[in-house]
Amino acid sequence: MSDPNCIFCKIAAHEIPSDIVHESDTVVAFRDTDPKAPTHVLLIPREHIASLAEVDSSHADMLADIARAASDLAHAEGIDESGWRLVTNVGPGAGQSVFHLHFHLLGGRPMTWPPG
Ligand code: 5GP
Ligand code: ZN
Repeated sequence: MSDPNCIFCKIAAHEIPSDIVHESDTVVAFRDTDPKAPTHVLLIPREHIASLAEVDSSHADMLADIARAASDLAHAEGIDESGWRLVTNVGPGAGQSVFHLHFHLLGGRPMTWPPG
């Protein structure tokens, strides 16, 4: 299912352009237009899900596909040795601005913990 007003649904459907780096039946990954690190890729389910708070056991395969794709992309980006981060924001208070579940794959620079 997709939401006709959702920018990430439109990216997944190739209705608006993006720099797609990985696609499968369940997952699409594309570069963030405002990168916060040398590697900044967004991984999304094709299905419109507002956030991780909406996820249930029916999404287990999709979540595993995202985890596998993130690891493969980290290798392809050359950040598997230096380290990478996979993060999802849930709600505006945590910084979520697009309400289609997405995971930020970040790497290529030293990162501090906790994030600001
Ligand atoms: P959030 O703030 O919801 O965790 O992350 C949303 C991310 O989507 C931001 O890092 C923002 O730069 C990115 N973004 C917003 N609109 C677009 C777009 O149209 N294309 C791409 N590639 N990234 C976008
Ligand atoms: Zn969507």
